[in-house]
Parts: sequence; C-alpha cells; structure tokens
Amino acid sequence: MVDLKSVGVLALQGDFEKHLAALKSLGVATKLIRTSSDFSDVDGLIIPGGESTTMTNLLRRSDLENSLRDYVMKNPVMGTCAGLILLSNQTESTNVIGLGVIDVDIDRNGYGSQRDSFSADISLNFDDENPFHAVFIRAPKIMNIGSSVTALAELNGEVVMARNSNVLVTSFHPELSENRNIHNYFVKQFVQREEVAA
Ligand code: GLN
Repeated sequence: MVDLKSVGVLALQGDFEKHLAALKSLGVATKLIRTSSDFSDVDGLIIPGGESTTMTNLLRRSDLENSLRDYVMKNPVMGTCAGLILLSNQTESTNVIGLGVIDVDIDRNGYGSQRDSFSADISLNFDDENPFHAVFIRAPKIMNIGSSVTALAELNGEVVMARNSNVLVTSFHPELSENRNIHNYFVKQFVQREEVAA
C-alpha cells in the first residue's frame, strides 16, 4: 500500500530522536515539530517522554501551546510517558498542562523516581507477537480510565497502555525497545486509519 502520510514528533525536549528513528524504520515520513506552522502538513503527532514540567514551560513560552491544544483535539496523537501526562486529565497541577484529550487520571511519578526505573514484559491486546519488553522511567501511573477509553496493556493489574478514538498513550517508552509494533499500530490504526482491530 502506498501511503504518503507523515507523522510529526514534538521536539521541544525529551526522547524525540528515538521516536523519529522508530518511525523512519517503518518507512514513515517524519517531521520535527517546533513551531505552530510545523503542524500544517502532518497527519499525526507523537509527544515523547521527557519531563512534563519542562515541556509545559517550553510550550507556555512559545507559540505552540494553543496550536498543540487544537491539533490534539481532532488528530491522531500518541503520548508516551511525559507525553501521556500532557494528554491526560491533569487538574491538580498548574505546573503541567493537562490537555484532557483522553479521559485518564494519572499519578505523575506513580512508579517512583529515576532509581525505581525498570523494564518488564507486557502483553499488548492487539498484537500476536507478545511479549513486548517495556521500559519504565519515572513512569506515570494510570490511576483511572473513563468509559471512552480502552485498556490495551496491563502490568500487575494496572493499565499501562490505553486508547480512545484518536489518542494512544503508554506509561512506558516504546521507542526504547527494538520492537516497533506499538509505533506500527499507531501509524496503521490511527494515522492511516485502517480497520481498528482493538
Ligand atoms: N514522570 C515524568 C514527568 O513528570 C515523566 C518521565 C518520562 O517521561 N520518562 O514528566
């Protein structure tokens, strides 16, 4: 199938280069997003892991905050780790923008500090090639998901990956695994909008 759609990666701070490499390895056209005008010709967006307070400060200082808000409301977007935090309901903290486009409540450092970082094999509901080796770094914990949200993977009974109609989130860093099935799922099911299997 020929598909010329391209995916942007928010490149203010954090692990954007590894997402770019993952997308390129799938043959997807990519673009770094640093200004409002960069949104004009991308069909989907990844918000990487990093530090959600730093990203918030950079967004507030630039012209990007409003265009990001507009973009994530109606376009395919994947948020990993800090990216999940930015996309979630974040009502209690003014240090972090909660864009509120996926109905999940999170505890920002719910899996502990940098020292508590870990990796674990998880099973992705939509994939036959499990397990997926997932890397958790100061990971946010998903505390609650709303009825519009579908859980796609769990660890010890807690949701670590979820989606709604246009938003896909992981509390871990899929770009740090060799396995590209999560990026592939995002591109196929959200950006190219093939039949949704989940
Ligand atoms: N918990 C971090 C934050 O608050 C996110 C960590 C990560 O993205 N690896 O931003």
